[in-house]
Amino acid sequence: MSANVALDIPISSRLRPCTPWKQIFLVLTTAMFSLCSSAVAYGAPTALVAARVIDGRSDTLSKATVVVVDGKTIVAIGGRSVIPADAEVIELGDATLMPGMINTHEHPLMSTSDYQNAHLATSSAYKALTALAGLQKLLLAGWTSVRVMGDADVGYANQDLRRLIDSGLFLGPRMTGAAHYISITGGGGDVNYLSPEQTVRPDGLIADGPEEIRKAIRNEIKYGADWVKLLVTGAFESVGDDPRNIAFSPEELRAAVEEAARHGVPVAAHAHATEGIRQAVLAGVRSIEHGTYVDDETLHEMARRGTYMVPTVYLGDYYDKGDQGDHLRAQDKNDDYIKNGRAAFLATILRAHKYGVKLAIGLDLGAGIADPSVYANEFGVFVEAGIPPMAAIQAGTRVAAELLRWDNRLGTLEKGKLADVIAVPGNPLVDITALRHVSMVMLGGKLIKRPGSSQALAGLLPATSVP
Ligand SMILES: [Zn+2]
Repeated sequence: MSANVALDIPISSRLRPCTPWKQIFLVLTTAMFSLCSSAVAYGAPTALVAARVIDGRSDTLSKATVVVVDGKTIVAIGGRSVIPADAEVIELGDATLMPGMINTHEHPLMSTSDYQNAHLATSSAYKALTALAGLQKLLLAGWTSVRVMGDADVGYANQDLRRLIDSGLFLGPRMTGAAHYISITGGGGDVNYLSPEQTVRPDGLIADGPEEIRKAIRNEIKYGADWVKLLVTGAFESVGDDPRNIAFSPEELRAAVEEAARHGVPVAAHAHATEGIRQAVLAGVRSIEHGTYVDDETLHEMARRGTYMVPTVYLGDYYDKGDQGDHLRAQDKNDDYIKNGRAAFLATILRAHKYGVKLAIGLDLGAGIADPSVYANEFGVFVEAGIPPMAAIQAGTRVAAELLRWDNRLGTLEKGKLADVIAVPGNPLVDITALRHVSMVMLGGKLIKRPGSSQALAGLLPATSVP
């Protein structure tokens, strides 16, 4: 099962093996849906005209100023001469066209910073509805794809959301990812602040030992996950564990990667502690999430193996004292990191970039927690670390699509790619904060946000419905 298939085939057909009759039914209904949607949603080609184009691939601005979209696909890029006679022309003025942004580390079901208590206090259905509203806001802010890195949920609400978005019932960003984060007992996915007499179902999926990990992974995949997420070390946001400690043993890590690999599913490893990062890389995970205390030797190993790193730096800033006024239950750990770890981490990220480690943009926020405009601040932190703005933008477009294994269809503005296109005012290479003010969003050829309109279109829930 290739993740690339996910872009065009309804998830229902990927969940379980079908009988031939079921397959025929699916093919027929899929064909009917695509006929209907193309008749309704797509007409004449659309020509997006701006002052400049960042295509996600070249290290300099493209010479093009026009992207032509027909149906779901980009059909031409160039000057005004490529505009077809029958095209609807959308003039964007002094703006930059670029690929839709990809958030490779999202927790859509988390709606408050006190996410472990929120998990205990709200149902999976409640989480699904707040997540849908949050994801739609993210889409309007220019984030056209997200990778879910597990969620605080007993159920599988993020997989249900993904299925409903894939089916076209709701508008939302393209989704891939893990249903849960898998954690040891007492780890970052466990609730560690209740008395031993209390029995609750924690926010993470608890698994100890290779056999429980294999079973947890099989359940994740059974219910739709196409990533496995492991909490390899302690975390900064949870109560009662330490990001400098390693949770899973090398034996458990190897079992996880081996089990996931047999199903064609990649593993993402949340890891802060130096040795935990090293062990996860050697076990063969596809991405290291955070990587706060990674050493140079491991960075070189990651560059050699092609292991991705999603540093999620802005998260610490978001929860810094006073910033946003939003505090964590484990605020003391974040405060310590800001005081004693942040500067070194920025230097680490720059070294990772120089060594050739593939860095991707990920926020580690919940779509319902933060105003979606702050998500673009992760690009700003990359630039603050010394990474060139173009490389930062590629980390949230082309490189992110590669991490998701969707790069054959997404992540760059090129003829033949799916038309996930956004426009930002001015030139983000001069002022990276322009990414906070996305003025136009197109998802698979559908115009989701028109320039000049602050709000959405048919199909989106009104923003006032967000609790
Ligand atoms: Zn996370």
